[in-house]
Amino acid sequence: MTGLVAACAVVGLLIGPSLHHLGVRAALRRPFDGVWPRCEGCNERRGLFVSACRACRGRIRRREPAIWLASAVGSGLAAWVAGPTWVLTAHLVFVWLTTVLVVTDLDAKLIPNRVLYPGTAAVALLLAAGAALDGRISDLRTAALCAAGYFGVLLLVAVLSRGGFGMGDVKLAVVIGLVLGLWGWRVFARGIFFTGLVGGIPALYLIARGRAGRGDELPYGPAMIFGSWAGLVFTGML
Ligand SMILES: [Zn+2]
Repeated sequence: MTGLVAACAVVGLLIGPSLHHLGVRAALRRPFDGVWPRCEGCNERRGLFVSACRACRGRIRRREPAIWLASAVGSGLAAWVAGPTWVLTAHLVFVWLTTVLVVTDLDAKLIPNRVLYPGTAAVALLLAAGAALDGRISDLRTAALCAAGYFGVLLLVAVLSRGGFGMGDVKLAVVIGLVLGLWGWRVFARGIFFTGLVGGIPALYLIARGRAGRGDELPYGPAMIFGSWAGLVFTGML
């Protein structure tokens, strides 16, 4: 088990620079130009874990190593939660997808469909196939119900808030509901609780201070993502 966690963390670390690259490109609405990371200045391919581009000496962004680390930690946690099962693959793809979406949301307050749609489809397929192979196909019903419920509630919030809540976040609820729901209603509820903790309190604070009006769109995406990760971690602990 420790070996599995370490192996997944290493894989997560190695693909961290690529996930950051995909997020940056998606936020800019530009072509990906492959998965290998490229310099944001001169567009040349660069090394994985470098502090600056060799071609133009442009420095990488200061936050990029935090994304490498998030991918490594998230991938290790996925292995710790799912263990040596078939659904582990879905959890890893979920971590990698949401890592890319944290970058796009931070850069452009955007959850791009060209990342979210294929990512959600891949997680759903791997989850369904994995649950069947693991002999827990009945858990898919709760997963589907949580996904539909989370999507429905956030859609209602988006309509009522008239632009204060982005449609990207509403659609993001589907994949989060699927992964958390696989582990049951309690885990799903725990993920929502942590999402409120991570995102709701700072948002309420900003609104109370008058720093963000009701019409301003706040980036709830990272809160939804890290809240769901926290919900899964507590699942692993129980
Ligand atoms: Zn460069």
